[in-house]
Amino acid sequence: MDSTHKAGFVSIVGKPNVGKSTLMNKLIGENLSITTPKAQTTRHRIMGILNDENYQIVYSDTPGILEPKYALHEAMMNYVKVSLEDADVILLVVEWGEKFDAIAYERFKSVKAPILLLINKVDKAPKAGRQEIINHWKNNLPAKMILPVSAYTGENTDQIFPALLELIPLHPPYFPKDELTNRSERFFASEIIREKIFKNYNQEIPYSTEVGIEDFKNEEAILKIRATIFVERDSQKGIVIGKAGSSLKKVGTEARVDMESFFGKKVFLETHVKVATDWRKQKDKLRMFGYLE
Ligand code: GDP
Ligand code: MG
Repeated sequence: MDSTHKAGFVSIVGKPNVGKSTLMNKLIGENLSITTPKAQTTRHRIMGILNDENYQIVYSDTPGILEPKYALHEAMMNYVKVSLEDADVILLVVEWGEKFDAIAYERFKSVKAPILLLINKVDKAPKAGRQEIINHWKNNLPAKMILPVSAYTGENTDQIFPALLELIPLHPPYFPKDELTNRSERFFASEIIREKIFKNYNQEIPYSTEVGIEDFKNEEAILKIRATIFVERDSQKGIVIGKAGSSLKKVGTEARVDMESFFGKKVFLETHVKVATDWRKQKDKLRMFGYLE
């Protein structure tokens, strides 16, 4: 590797639902991180690695910044904290119409890494008044650069990468050049199922649900996956399954279709529903689900 090679960590952070995961997928050109219209979809730090002969950019998608209400939230906010400490560049994502929140953004006043502030969802905004919004953020946060973008329409998103590359230091690669992520195939299988749960159920169900992959058999012509959907209470089991199994069947079919495109092969998916009482509040269960060391 020659001495002009650049490598660094770019942490994508911000409040829930502002479009962090959509942006990460756009930046790496791959649907790695699940995105849904609901807040708090992303629960882990998910790395997406962009490799080129001359650089390696390690993006981290993170859970949205919130005030922790239970142990799962605390684990989620720890991923944010660690991602900020590791970062060579911080991609702080806010959304159009959002106002500066002194408490949530306090931590950005003392971070070491340069902040590139993205004002996402400009497709929803009128052209007039843009400068005012940019000034609002400029006055409140020490951002190196502020860019209004739309992860949806792609407006200005092509300006993000060159700006990042400028700020990434000279460094040998951190990961082998054929690696695309820090997460396993099993992890992505469970995330795809979680996305379908977020899309198919309302209220507390998505937040009360966790997915475990019991079996992941990669056979020559087919990938055989057995998954368990955990809910917090017995009453939620029936809702997830639905009348004569109809809801669970829909989730399973939608997940299988996405898995086939993600893994590039035929998938056989079997799903079961189980109760893991109050798992979001219990450290031992959070550990079992991989949220704690
Ligand atoms: P996250 O919680 O910050 O990771 O947000 P997601 O990436 O999951 O996106 C939250 C919602 O906002 C989803 O419904 C996205 O489709 C939507 N979204 C993301 N980017 C844009 C954008 O540029 N414009 C609009 N209108 N919606 C967006
Ligand atoms: Mg997300």
